[in-house]
Amino acid sequence: MVTIALKRSKQHRCAACGSLFSYLVEAQGTAHRDGSREDARMNAVRWIMRRPTAYPCPACGVVQPDQVGQRRELAHALLLVAAFGAAVTLPAGLEWVSVPAHLILPGMAGVAALFILAHAAAAWYSPNRFPRQNLARAAEAGAAGDLVLDAPGPEGGLGARRRLMSPWFCWLGFAALALSLPMIAGAEIVRAFAGWPVNADCRPNAAGPGDEVRVYFPAEGHSLDGRWQGLVAVAVLNAKELDIETALPATTRTEAIGQWVEDKPKSFRPWAKVKIPDAERLAGKVLRLYLRAQITYPVREGNGFVTRCEVLDHVTELRMAPPRAGAVYTLLEVAGASAGAGLSFVGAVLLIVAAARLKRAGYAAVLL
Ligand SMILES: [Zn+2]
Repeated sequence: MVTIALKRSKQHRCAACGSLFSYLVEAQGTAHRDGSREDARMNAVRWIMRRPTAYPCPACGVVQPDQVGQRRELAHALLLVAAFGAAVTLPAGLEWVSVPAHLILPGMAGVAALFILAHAAAAWYSPNRFPRQNLARAAEAGAAGDLVLDAPGPEGGLGARRRLMSPWFCWLGFAALALSLPMIAGAEIVRAFAGWPVNADCRPNAAGPGDEVRVYFPAEGHSLDGRWQGLVAVAVLNAKELDIETALPATTRTEAIGQWVEDKPKSFRPWAKVKIPDAERLAGKVLRLYLRAQITYPVREGNGFVTRCEVLDHVTELRMAPPRAGAVYTLLEVAGASAGAGLSFVGAVLLIVAAARLKRAGYAAVLL
């Protein structure tokens, strides 16, 4: 394999004042294609061309757009990756730290807003806020002989301060990011305007006549691999007053525990899926529910496991929104999450594209 070291002068035209300046760059090139010295030399030259400008312009002190763009691109890309991680872990995380059910979506929108602020900081941060320091740095490099002003720019410069931004992509990106916020919190925004009551220990936590909701028992259980199964019965304590049947159809987890269970204790919360009668008059009313569950779950004993059986009783209230509010809430939650995630992604990508366009702006040449 042929590898050669190269020292060449790289020349730039300042994007702001149009001056030509150059400095020496050292590079190593390896021949990939045919193993010739020419191939190695060309690879070294390409590497030099891809490098962002190393110094501010010695005439006006402006840090060149490719350098600014590279930093921005990196910042936006890192934020995109971090946001993806947050989107995956946040819903469970917020629940884990006992954030009330109706604050989870606004909480996620809040975290998304913090990401937008971070993107804004990355887009608006410019080393060109400090022209005097940049000029001093260029002068220092000039005095050391590292940076040479080859030719001053035309009178009045290129008027290209605007080119240091890529405004359309930036604004589009921020518009997409901003639009993602009401999407993420959409279900809660609709609830707030419609005045649907919150049922903290239910999924969905808005419920109306005709909905099917999962009501959780307050106690957390521990079993091997978090497995459990059960039978449930649900009665309405104030059925007479509401003029409905006392017993409500309800189901719970019935998947068999099986013969082989992973030896890893996990927690679980038993639940009952309750079908609310489809009677419009229940809107705005409170259903007082009595839940009874008989659950079995595997626990470790000796080298194997045994199934333990337990009966749980729970009395809770289900506050009714208008018919099918729960189904609408779930739909908004799912659609909002996908639309919000999609818009956040598109917004961040547009900002990355804007930064990448900055990187390509300007003129540079390797003097052979
Ligand atoms: Zn300049």
